[in-house]
Amino acid sequence: MQYVRCIKCDNRAIYYRAYSGEKLCNSCFCSSIIEKVKRTIAKYDLLKYGDAIGVAVSGGKDSLTLLRILNELSKPHASKIFAITIDEGIYGYREEAIDICKNFTEELNIPHHIFSFEELFGFSLDDVIKIRKSKFSACSVCGILRRRALDIAAKELKVDAIATAHNLDDFLQTFMINLLNGDIDRIKWLNPLIKPRSEFVVRRVKPLMEIYEKEIALYAFLKNTQFQTVTCPYMNESIRSEIRLMMNSLEDEHPGIKYSALNSAIKLSQSLMTDERELKACKTCNFPSSSDFCSVCKILEMVKRNMYI
Ligand SMILES: [Zn+2]
Ligand SMILES: [Zn+2]
Repeated sequence: MQYVRCIKCDNRAIYYRAYSGEKLCNSCFCSSIIEKVKRTIAKYDLLKYGDAIGVAVSGGKDSLTLLRILNELSKPHASKIFAITIDEGIYGYREEAIDICKNFTEELNIPHHIFSFEELFGFSLDDVIKIRKSKFSACSVCGILRRRALDIAAKELKVDAIATAHNLDDFLQTFMINLLNGDIDRIKWLNPLIKPRSEFVVRRVKPLMEIYEKEIALYAFLKNTQFQTVTCPYMNESIRSEIRLMMNSLEDEHPGIKYSALNSAIKLSQSLMTDERELKACKTCNFPSSSDFCSVCKILEMVKRNMYI
């Protein structure tokens, strides 16, 4: 029977990578993803031999794939892997994700730690949303608190780095949103070479940042990964979806354009790093902050005022 052959081993190809012209079989496709993650880690010096790595795992395809790949890479590099799930307290959504993470980490035999907003801050995201003032969107409150929760988790577990599963598409969408919003300050934080700004903050790495979202989805499918498919009920980022569609249609017409855009975004983020402002310590919690009180403490204050009066 005639079939399209893998350019590397002659087996039956299952994937055509338009930007490189490669036709790949199941096994060569999976190895190519692992190789690409290794190259990203080496290129930006993301992880070092013997690092303890906290992997933020939400239960979606990207984070479970990241955990699977880092777990595979950890053995020859003597790294210790911890899976960290942040439970924001989103009723009817997070419970399923936690079960998925539990099953997956058991299957891979990786220690799994859950940190909840409820125990760290005294309230759930659902609670904050009920009383939220207009200046905080659900995603911004969640993002600010989740970053802090990951820092606390990292300290507690004594990890050297926190790995998150942002892929190439996520990276570009964030870049474009910041660009369109005129938010240059945030573009510089996309720099993968960025170092932690104080002893309170642990190094953040994004080992999947050079991998297309659709290739992660295919990898997860080929590895038979069970992941959560429903999206967060609070997610309302229409501009992100519009940018996703636009970038996908550009990529269809011009294979590889996402990579060029990624390179530009990284170079721009690096060139913006020169005039780094001094960070202060928050007067309440002592974590690094650009003003007297950090955004976590501002949210906590807002919640306190509105919940107990
Ligand atoms: Zn092959
Ligand atoms: Zn603070």
